[in-house]
Amino acid sequence: AAPILTIDGPGGAGKGTISRMIAERMGWHLLDSGALYRLTALSALRNGVAVDDVQALSDQAHGLDVVFAVENGKMQILLEGDDVTTEIRSERVGGAASQVAALPPVRDALLQRQRDFRQAPGLVADGRDMGTVVFPDASLKIYLTASAEERARRRQLQLQQAGEDARLSTLLEEIQARDARDMQRSVAPLKPAEDAVELDTTQLDIPEVVERIETLIAE
Ligand code: C5P
Repeated sequence: AAPILTIDGPGGAGKGTISRMIAERMGWHLLDSGALYRLTALSALRNGVAVDDVQALSDQAHGLDVVFAVENGKMQILLEGDDVTTEIRSERVGGAASQVAALPPVRDALLQRQRDFRQAPGLVADGRDMGTVVFPDASLKIYLTASAEERARRRQLQLQQAGEDARLSTLLEEIQARDARDMQRSVAPLKPAEDAVELDTTQLDIPEVVERIETLIAE
């Protein structure tokens, strides 16, 4: 089977950026598993499905009509043909995603869809449970972290670049609430796989993180 690199960790640790860069440099496929939870949440919001209607939510997850397309080197995400690349990144959708992600039937519904991304020559899988649940036999597992304060600061910068303003204290609270929900849920809680390499990026910039991971891949 094709080799897999899993990159798990809390929100805002830089998994998305790092995973994309490594996948590009290795010429491997990329799985943004968080996007699948975000798409499930957005689809539910659009169809008026309540975030606690478990059966309807798992139906949404099963039936997701999604296309990950690469357009001019950028990933484009289509939900029923509609470009939702930007919309799924909103706080509203992110919050709903972390709620639907706590439901076992939703996770089950997305499991095979995620495993189908494993194709030659290799896969970089970005998420919370890539190394623990979805690809337990991955060749290399990374657990990427950064302090909550640093993640809030990075998020604020990102929002500023998008022309949005947000208070650091509000972002920090949101990050801490999301961490607590991801770590304390009973199903697939966020935690490092036993054989994961933990990488704290609080003091590292992006090229440094990429370099460390590439060194690990080469070992
Ligand atoms: O990583 P991202 O912020 O896009 O993920 C959105 C939400 O989806 C997270 O808050 C988390 O609750 C959930 N998620 C998950 N398992 C994954 C990826 C994301 O539960 N593998």
